[in-house]
Amino acid sequence: MRLYQYKCAQCDKEIELLVRDGEIPTCPSCGSKDLERQVGRFAALSGSSASGGDMPPSCGCGPGCCGMN
Ligand SMILES: [Zn+2]
Repeated sequence: MRLYQYKCAQCDKEIELLVRDGEIPTCPSCGSKDLERQVGRFAALSGSSASGGDMPPSCGCGPGCCGMN
């Protein structure tokens, strides 16, 4: 399972979902399957990290990435 960020095309809500390979996620708000996966945030992480290096690999992509705050 992986954590993806989606934007719902029906209710225009941005959501984060854990999705199994091959599984089609549905919007928890309106139940639509018409979700757009947002990938820009991950693609933007290229090259420039020289800091501590003890962030967990599943996190550290920025504020609000895991919805834990
Ligand atoms: Zn929705």
